[in-house]
Amino acid sequence: MYYIGIDLGGTSIKVGIVSEEGEILIKTSSATPVKKGFEGVLVRIKELIDEVMIEKKIDKKNIAAVGIGIPGACSQEGFVYFASNLFWKKVPLAERLHEMTGLKVYVENDATVAAVGEYIKGVTKGKKNAIFLTLGTGVGGGFIINNKIYSGSHGIGAEVGHMVIGKNFYDCTCGNHGCLETFVSATALIKYCKKLLEENKESLVFHRVDGNLDNLTAKIIFDCARKGDSTALKVIDRMTHYLAIGLANLINLFDPEVIAIGGGVAEAGDVFIEKLREEVKKYIYVKDMNVTEIVLAELKNDAGIIGSGMYAKFNNSSSREIQNYAKMK
Ligand SMILES: [Zn+2]
Repeated sequence: MYYIGIDLGGTSIKVGIVSEEGEILIKTSSATPVKKGFEGVLVRIKELIDEVMIEKKIDKKNIAAVGIGIPGACSQEGFVYFASNLFWKKVPLAERLHEMTGLKVYVENDATVAAVGEYIKGVTKGKKNAIFLTLGTGVGGGFIINNKIYSGSHGIGAEVGHMVIGKNFYDCTCGNHGCLETFVSATALIKYCKKLLEENKESLVFHRVDGNLDNLTAKIIFDCARKGDSTALKVIDRMTHYLAIGLANLINLFDPEVIAIGGGVAEAGDVFIEKLREEVKKYIYVKDMNVTEIVLAELKNDAGIIGSGMYAKFNNSSSREIQNYAKMK
């Protein structure tokens, strides 16, 4: 049997067919028609599912289930409480997509399904206790505790990005102040860099954006840091410092075997990973037992498709073997 894995973001929808082993057979993607609302996005998802099934000549009877990773919070029944980038509030995603496709649909937070992907096919494979962080526009978290997904009593836990870490110069999109995400996301890097550039127009960063700060991206900041630009390095140092505090908090609370960092920012991990590992040591409680590995994720862009496909598999199966790997419903 096969599974449909869907990575639903505020910018793009990625859909793939995934094998029992977590291999992607085919994938496609499209811009998310956010302005068309919930029903409009559903129609687009259905079109993409049809596209990959027709292309691979795989019939509906060979699809065991659909998994979707969403940028928001949802119940275990696939009811989305909210997904701010999609402007969704209280929508019955699993129920509606099931009505449209006739397939069983399982919904989870996008960072959680990415954690499942890394756990099955990636860098946290075989680890009993693993925490996955995704650093992108925002910051998400996925927890595997005792070989099971942990998302809290109501499915709204593991919100690593909204751990309150310190005072910042702007508020979080969630309405709170001082969230980790406002220090370490791509958005945070850009905001802080712009603030520094108000004072220093000599930075290489300023030249790379042709004097127009609207063109600034996290990638440009990382590129300039690699070239030794002092403003860019200051931005990365600040990010590394706050990320180290966040990771040390997670280590002190959960004592995981591994913390994996994924998402767009992590693709520039070579710039900060060593320093991050050093800085984490300053804040962990049991200092002479520095045993949590801190690694960069492996699956990159495919983590969402593989993870949501595998999430569907685990939720759909009752075999004992699978119970060893992830939570059952
Ligand atoms: Zn927040």
